[in-house]
Amino acid sequence: MDTQDVLVIGAGISGLLCAAELQAAGQRVLVLDKGRGPGGRMSTRRGMGATRIDHGAQFFTVRGARWGKWVERMRAAGVVKEWFRRAPWDNNPAGYPRYCGVGGMNAIPKYLADELKLVRSSRIVSLQRVEGVWIAESAEGERYAGRELVLSTPLPQAWALLDTSGLQWADDATRAALERVRYEKGLATLVQLKGASAVPAPGCLKLETGALVWIADNQQKGISPEPALTLHASAVFAEEHWDSPDAVRGELMLAAAERWLGSEVAAYQCHRWGFTLPLDPFEEDYFRNRGLGLTLVGDAFGGPRIEGAAGSGIAGAAVVLAGMK
Ligand SMILES: Cc1cc2nc3c(=O)[nH]c(=O)nc-3n(C[C@H](O)[C@H](O)[C@H](O)COP(=O)(O)OP(=O)(O)OC[C@H]3O[C@@H](n4cnc5c(N)ncnc54)[C@H](O)[C@@H]3O)c2cc1C
Repeated sequence: MDTQDVLVIGAGISGLLCAAELQAAGQRVLVLDKGRGPGGRMSTRRGMGATRIDHGAQFFTVRGARWGKWVERMRAAGVVKEWFRRAPWDNNPAGYPRYCGVGGMNAIPKYLADELKLVRSSRIVSLQRVEGVWIAESAEGERYAGRELVLSTPLPQAWALLDTSGLQWADDATRAALERVRYEKGLATLVQLKGASAVPAPGCLKLETGALVWIADNQQKGISPEPALTLHASAVFAEEHWDSPDAVRGELMLAAAERWLGSEVAAYQCHRWGFTLPLDPFEEDYFRNRGLGLTLVGDAFGGPRIEGAAGSGIAGAAVVLAGMK
């Protein structure tokens, strides 16, 4: 077994940026993800006709300088574009840029993963630490080794994995603080339309009441060649209809979106998200146990959303590097 400098579990935006920064600093890094492709909650689905639909995260913002540098680089590479600047719900009349991936949100993780060593379809099921080295084992029995371990999965999944190691990885106060971070569940219905939607420019609506919180027109967004909508349910609706058949929850979500459909529905699919946004994120940008060579990053740390997860991954890389000196 080849021992890496750093094993990163999770190829969402936090894990990928952490890995990219570590690799740029000369570390040998291996990223492991259970998904068929990188991206986690930044996901784009194809399949109903020629539609292309962002079904997880919809757009992101940029405030931090280091995340801003990555976004500039990706804009120059044609991977990121500004979707809109002024939204109807903005208080500030000038608005501020909301970015998305060119051709879909997953263009961004794909771009980052291209430069990295990534093992896909590898669900890690157990962790061990043997003589100062972390061993991660997948469901298929593959074993990977690294001197440092970065976990970038949603916190409950990181927690469950760490508990397989039998190690006391955090003190009681920290564990209690981490336990307070909870995630909302989500439901998405992806809709193929026979003609243009009635969603106004710039192609999205934020809703405050009822079953839906968000409607996006993926054609106006410039990612789908055919008319296609993303409908996101409220956390209350998602909880209530988590186990409902698609024919029930999908129809209810379509009924809630009726006035913005604009055309006949050709087909639809529903998708469950076990984790959308963390409530009460941990106050630090990462969790670090230097003695164990263990770092936790992700949106549970840097603040909810892509920007927070990105900032956490970047901050996590810096602390790992500092600990390796
Ligand atoms: C429906 C929805 C809408 C959203 N809308 C927005 C939005 O508009 N704007 C915004 O900024 N944010 C939005 N978010 C939140 C945003 O997507 C997340 O904050 C961000 O993508 C989190 O990135 P991450 O790297 O922390 O985690 P993730 O993207 O969840 O990545 C974690 C990775 O870990 C992998 N993994 C988990 N367990 C294992 C295991 N055992 N072995 C191997 N791999 C494993 C997963 O496959 C995944 O790829 C939305 C999220 C959802 C679900």
